[in-house]
Parts: sequence; structure tokens; C-alpha cells
Amino acid sequence: MTLPCNVRGLGRGGGRLLGSGTLAVAAACAVTLTSSPAGATGMQGHMYVTEMAVRSLPPGELRTLLDSRRDLWLDGSFLPDSGYAANDAYGEMAHWEQFVEAYINWIRSSFSPPFTSGAAADHVAVLMGAASHGMLDQTFDTLLVDRAAELGDDTSELDTGIDAWIVNDLGRKENPPIVVDTQGISQVFATGFGYDVSPDTIMSGLNTAKQAIGAVITLLAKNDQVFRDASPWAVTHYLDAGTPGSYPYSVPVVAGYMENIWRRLQGDHAMNRAIIGTWPNDGAADVPVDHASVSSFVTLFSGHGLVPGSVTSDSAFVQDAEGNRVPCEVRTRGDDWAGMIQLRPQADWAYHATYRVTLTSGIASLYGEHLASPFTLQFTTACAPGDEASCATAQGGGEGGCAISQARGSGAGGWWPVAAAAAVWVAARRRREGAQNADGREGRPSKRA
Ligand SMILES: [Zn+2]
Repeated sequence: MTLPCNVRGLGRGGGRLLGSGTLAVAAACAVTLTSSPAGATGMQGHMYVTEMAVRSLPPGELRTLLDSRRDLWLDGSFLPDSGYAANDAYGEMAHWEQFVEAYINWIRSSFSPPFTSGAAADHVAVLMGAASHGMLDQTFDTLLVDRAAELGDDTSELDTGIDAWIVNDLGRKENPPIVVDTQGISQVFATGFGYDVSPDTIMSGLNTAKQAIGAVITLLAKNDQVFRDASPWAVTHYLDAGTPGSYPYSVPVVAGYMENIWRRLQGDHAMNRAIIGTWPNDGAADVPVDHASVSSFVTLFSGHGLVPGSVTSDSAFVQDAEGNRVPCEVRTRGDDWAGMIQLRPQADWAYHATYRVTLTSGIASLYGEHLASPFTLQFTTACAPGDEASCATAQGGGEGGCAISQARGSGAGGWWPVAAAAAVWVAARRRREGAQNADGREGRPSKRA
């Protein structure tokens, strides 16, 4: 594709640095920049989803403290990718559950609860932004990017492209001042990982990321058609609430993650609200049957880091209507702790059949807690080709699915009009090859998005 300055992306080790478009912008601005690997959503997108998630939170202490700390959670929303900009390993670390837990522990050891004012609340805001980033990367990469690639989109520049689209589709031009206490963040890495990164390095990464954000706004957004042409499915679905992994799909998942983290900060480790989003959702109909497609996989997101070894075919499984277990490959994604569970059927689902998904109390969190009761959901697959009429009657119609927490009456209405408006702007996507460890886990050290 033709981009300003005609600068291409670079590779680093096993992963990719910035999408070529952002590199091009960086070159145009004389910014020396590395950035998130291809396959991720961009920094403007992360800020956007964090904002929508904050706006969807119910009234309460968390909502109140976040409402007055917008710049802090906006900064936190690109803190993880700033590590790539600084060419420092802290960026990769900050994408995952270990960082979230390290940050929780550092706040709890540095301040007194309830962490609703002063510097403690400031750090809570940054934590929520960073956690939003990590969870959005999981939902978006796992569901939307993979589907886009299946459908033929070029997903290699999708992170950059989406940020350019947002500027034009939603009029978003966020480029907040850097107000993060990098001294504190440095201590989180020291205490949580035994990793030494200076406050100045983090500040440098944040400032470089900020320059890139500005360059996308002022330069690359003018050329966003290049990215629309490369990813025609993604551009027409990334704001579609009915598309798994889209921004509106991800907002309630991120909000649910924030609420779990807030409870964890208060020392509440109960798992009763740990599952924050699924695909398909409970009661979904018309689920595709193709066992090789991500649209047919059962995917669940957790607001608590899970012990990967506790997620097995005994604790996470699918049964047919007769109660027979359906052979599925069980995958998790994360670092030492998993934030996502995915069940991939080894053969196509049957047409117009009902399946039940169960997570048992065998699944454990990093705190050693277990699901208080089994988590279940049920879905029905699509009709066989040619049998749609009778099938539709039998199924009574239904949506393809959405995050379970969308059902909450928690004031998410502030978001949905935006999505509807965006859908007008954006007519009807990418995949990142999720590297997989030998034990079926995805995540470090092979990639990040
Ligand atoms: Zn990222």
C-alpha cells in the first residue's frame, strides 16, 4: 500500500513492530518509534474503548474517582504500547494479568483503602486504563482480527488503520497530556516483576507514543482510505455491536474487568462475577458450525487471572443435547495467568443443534479461589443450508451473541447511541496468528498485541 513517506514496518525478533503506516507517520514527524505489533488495535482505539467502558460503569466509588481523572486513564490506555515506543520490555509485561496483579498489590501496599482519593485514586485510574488495554487486545485480537483474516482482509496494518478510521468515523482526536506518576509505575515493575525500568524510560515511551498519536491524527487520518481498502471487512464491522470482538462488543467486557479489579483492590477475591464476556452469549442462535472458524469457537473472558493448569477438558467442556461431551481443544491465553478460555470443536457443530458450555469449580484464580458454582451457557447452531425457514421458526430468531454483561442496566446507554451513529458512518476486517505454546496456551513469550 502507498503510505506517506513510503516507510515500511520493521521486524524485531519474533514479533513485528509498528504497522508501516504508523512508522511512516513517525518518520514524517521525525519520531523514532517502535510500537505495538501488528494485529493489535491502536492507541486511539484503546482510549476510546476505555472511555466508553468508564461511561458504562454504574454509579459508585470507582465511577466517581474515574470521572475526575480522565487524563490518567487515557494515559493508562496506551501505557502498555508505550513500552514498544521505548523499545523496552515493560511494554510487553504491561499487557497481561501479571501487571494488573502487580499494580493491585503495589497500590494496596503503598496506600490505605479505599483508594478513592489522592495519589491512590490517580494510580487506580492509570491501572484501569492499562487493564482496559490488555483486555481489549484479548477480545479484539481473539475474535475480530482472526475473523477478518479468515475473510481475506490484510490485517498487517489494522492497528494503524483503525486509529486513522476513528479520527474520521467518530471524530476522535484524543491526545492527552502525560500526567502519569512514572516513579510509581517503575516501582510496580520492580516489586511485581523484579524488573528494572527507570521512570525516565517510561516517560520517554509515553511521550513518544503521544507523538505518534498526534501524527496519526494530523497526517495519517488523511490517508485512511488506504487502510479501508486493505481491510474492507474490519472497517465495516469494528464498530458493529453484533460482531464479536468489535469495540461495542468489548466495552462491557472491559467494564466488567474494571469492576472485578476494583473488588480485587478492596481484597474481595470472590469469583462469582469472574466471567465478564463470552462468545457466543447464553441463548445465542444461528452460531456457525464450521469448526475451523473463530466464529464457531466458544470464547470466554475472565476478570480474574486464571491458573492455566486448572483449565482442562474436565473443567471446561461442551455437551450436546443428550449430555454427551463434544471433543474440543481447550486453549487459554495470557502470561502466567490466563484471561481467556477458548473451546475449539474438533469437528463441525451439528446444524440446528443446542449445546451447553460448562466451566466447573475446578477452575482456579491466581488467588486460589474457585468458581462458587458452575458457569454455564447454552447456544444453538445455524440451520442447514436450505432449511432456514423451518429452523427460524424453531429457534424463534435471536442475535448471534454479545458480551454477557451487556444485559446489565448499568447506564451503558451513553455508548449505544454512539455505536448507532458510527454504524451509519461505517458501512460492513484481520487476524493475527496467535502463537501457541506447546500446552495449548497462547501468550508470552511468543507475541503480544
Ligand atoms: Zn497493545
